[in-house]
Amino acid sequence: MAAGPHECTHDGRLPGAGWRLEGRPLSASDRRPSRFPLPLDKVVAGATPLRAGAEVLRPQRPLQEAAREAMRRQPPAGLGLDSAAVRARMVTRLAAEGVRCEPVLAAMGEVPRHLFVDTALVPQAYEDTSLPIGLGQTISKPAVVARMLALLVDRPGGAAAHAPRAPLGRVLEIGTGCGYQAAVLARLARSVISVERLKPLHDRARANLDAAGVPGVRLVWGDGRLGHGPNAPYDTIISAAGGEELPSAWVEQLAVGGRLVAPMHSPADGGQVLVVLDRTTSGLRRSAHDAVHFVPLKSGAQ
Ligand code: SAH
Repeated sequence: MAAGPHECTHDGRLPGAGWRLEGRPLSASDRRPSRFPLPLDKVVAGATPLRAGAEVLRPQRPLQEAAREAMRRQPPAGLGLDSAAVRARMVTRLAAEGVRCEPVLAAMGEVPRHLFVDTALVPQAYEDTSLPIGLGQTISKPAVVARMLALLVDRPGGAAAHAPRAPLGRVLEIGTGCGYQAAVLARLARSVISVERLKPLHDRARANLDAAGVPGVRLVWGDGRLGHGPNAPYDTIISAAGGEELPSAWVEQLAVGGRLVAPMHSPADGGQVLVVLDRTTSGLRRSAHDAVHFVPLKSGAQ
């Protein structure tokens, strides 16, 4: 069956004709000075990050000239327009790589990822690569964020199980990091609680979310292996750090009809894989998906 515009799959095919990206009006936070436009070249995952302003080999020179020309034709309303254009290109690339989940693509097209990374890394903010965020941690690469969120939207019972505008319902995120994924989640959820064990990152995420003008994300400093009992159960649980097993608190705090996605070590696969856990009225169902590489899930807060 051909996928419709709201179906969320990642099957390597191009998106259906119904796919479209909806923008949003520019906010003050969009106008933070940046160094856009960015290079259009696709950076291979795991490649050495480019220095700010560094030259890269550009096999698609005519494409770049066309992009520059398009930028020149835009009204001079500030650098935010550049960031919207680069973000739209990131989303187009994700779609071309097989992410077909319209709500996820739309949300990622709206969140200013460059406001969540260090100034020196801003030129790389929309490349498909993970980036350091300090204390040995990383912001996940956009393709992985998109894949995990699409797995969550595309759950048994359908994306609109809770509300079409908040398909993920009540969300618990483990591993706030810089807050980027929490900001994307906020566009897909009724509420988001995000737990981070490292206080400096917890604080920075708060500042980043405020700068990006993202309301409605509650940040908790603590050990996310314990989940967050006071607001349980959750319709969605997502972890950005991987352990040997799924902590029992996460399983206990997952609502009936809820879905959890987390990286987990899989000896059979020789590394980490994305594990999906569904709680249905008849019990728990677990499935393994893509091979991934996330930072480790550690114990205790510090
Ligand atoms: N979602 C983040 C990715 C952060 S990387 C983003 O968009 O940037 C994963 C994060 O998980 C790190 O910040 C790490 O400190 C955190 N982490 C690891 N173990 C944790 C635990 N037990 N509880 C809470 N956070 C944890």
